[in-house]
Amino acid sequence: MSCDKFDRPVLVVVDHLGDEENGYTLTAASEHLLKVAGTLTNNEVIALVLNASPQMEKLSACGVSRVVVPELAGRSPRVSSVVADAVIAAERALAQNPLGAILCLSNYRGREVAAFLGAHFRSGAATDVTDVSVVDGAISAHKSVLGGQWKTAFTIPSGLPIVAMRPGAGEAAEPTPVATPGIIPVNVNFSAPSDAVEVMELEELKEHGPALTEAGTVVCVGYGTDGEIEDAQALADRLNGAIGATRAVCDEGWVERSRQIGQTGVSVAPNLYIGVGVSGAIHHTCGISGAQKIVVINEDEEAPLVKLADLAVIGDCHEVLAEVLTELEQS
Ligand SMILES: Cc1cc2nc3c(=O)[nH]c(=O)nc-3n(C[C@H](O)[C@H](O)[C@H](O)COP(=O)(O)OP(=O)(O)OC[C@H]3O[C@@H](n4cnc5c(N)ncnc54)[C@H](O)[C@@H]3O)c2cc1C
Repeated sequence: MSCDKFDRPVLVVVDHLGDEENGYTLTAASEHLLKVAGTLTNNEVIALVLNASPQMEKLSACGVSRVVVPELAGRSPRVSSVVADAVIAAERALAQNPLGAILCLSNYRGREVAAFLGAHFRSGAATDVTDVSVVDGAISAHKSVLGGQWKTAFTIPSGLPIVAMRPGAGEAAEPTPVATPGIIPVNVNFSAPSDAVEVMELEELKEHGPALTEAGTVVCVGYGTDGEIEDAQALADRLNGAIGATRAVCDEGWVERSRQIGQTGVSVAPNLYIGVGVSGAIHHTCGISGAQKIVVINEDEEAPLVKLADLAVIGDCHEVLAEVLTELEQS
């Protein structure tokens, strides 16, 4: 068995934040995904961009040599079948040099896109993938299953593999920037599911601080906070981070559901995760497996998250947070 790379290009579906009026920013998770794609191929990394203003400098710095810009004819890239149709059109346009794999992010949309593509190409599609490589010419990957209690290793030996990676997951390598990536415009044939859905309205919910899945620091509040989250929010603000929450906290309505981390919430991969009054149930910790460093404040030294943490502070979270904020104010 040998670890190697594809001689064929890898296509990456990238996500942007923003809108036409204010401009678009390539998400940090997409930047990372492009750099992961670079480890899989000796050939090109090609990005598929779903808006008309690709950030070419950023894409070139991530080693992208060509950018596919599909003509969506007014259809919304929020609809997963529209994105799948665009990828199918890109694959057709690139057929002269067939793709080795297609990568996207394993978020709400990406998981559905992967399923559409797997069905279309009659190939293996894997979601929630935590690492990926090429072994003996085939995709070899891991994913966590059963609420994160098991890790599975698998391969996609034939066909066009579709891999939806957890945001921030996978080994990235520093790419060689490409001077001027080429742009490939493609026309898309829309399928019945794409014609069946029309997005009527899009309202941006103003985030307090950085987006949860993009933040370098996440302060996650658990049931142990008893709903008093002001100090945790102050710490997140001080560290330019985002507030996340456990399901117990969202169930209580202390924090909005969109901030729930875990099996039935979102996955995060920050540099620093701080769990405040969080026990560390497996349904929660499966959503933080990409975190670089885990800090926990909990009064119970037997809590599962304490065992998982790089640093644990045993004590009352309100007292500890108050002290930390005072220290930070004085620094
Ligand atoms: C199918 C399924 C899916 C699920 N999906 C999710 C999911 O996506 N995300 C998720 O989070 N959960 C999920 N859960 C729920 C999960 O199993 C746990 O119940 C939940 O994560 C617990 O949240 P918690 O840690 O906030 O609360 P608890 O488990 O109640 O933990 C509270 C912690 O706070 C500590 N504490 C108490 N008071 C203080 C204090 N004053 N100072 C410091 N520490 C204190 C306690 O020692 C304890 O460790 C799911 C469950 C199921 C069955």
